[in-house]
Amino acid sequence: MSEDKLKIERIHKGTVIDHIDAGYALTILNLTNLDESPNLMTIGVNVPSKKYNKKDIIKIEGVFLNEIQMQQISILSPNATISLIDDYKVIEKIKVKLPKLIKKLILCQNTTCIVNSQKEPISSEFLVLEEKPLKIQCVYCDRIYKLDEIIFASKEKKEKKVKQRIQI
Ligand SMILES: [Zn+2]
Repeated sequence: MSEDKLKIERIHKGTVIDHIDAGYALTILNLTNLDESPNLMTIGVNVPSKKYNKKDIIKIEGVFLNEIQMQQISILSPNATISLIDDYKVIEKIKVKLPKLIKKLILCQNTTCIVNSQKEPISSEFLVLEEKPLKIQCVYCDRIYKLDEIIFASKEKKEKKVKQRIQI
């Protein structure tokens, strides 16, 4: 039995996000808001991996991911796999899939882009030019972004939330 398998089986019921690109586990937790979950969570960073040399892994007890969270993970780690665990067994294994068009999740930072216009509020749309390393293009203004240049829509919301907490 491999070490990975043992780690997965320690979860009673929940989700294992495996084959995350090394170093991205904490970014994924922050972006998906899983870092706000009160549930038991185990995070492995720079875990040795036969396939990818090094990887990150997240195990969360009692949590199942929604579509948006899976898409967010696919942007940060297109090789990630998501295993649903019940009674210590993998009941379903999903490979995340980066869509050809990413809608709403990412902000266009071009201030003159129509998505940032006050008059015509439009949801952002980005065409995926390359999956790895990620390269996306705003369909409205054609501006191209690499992974480390991306600002996620949900992340901005979260920053607002943190400010509110400080005010309280
Ligand atoms: Zn744009």
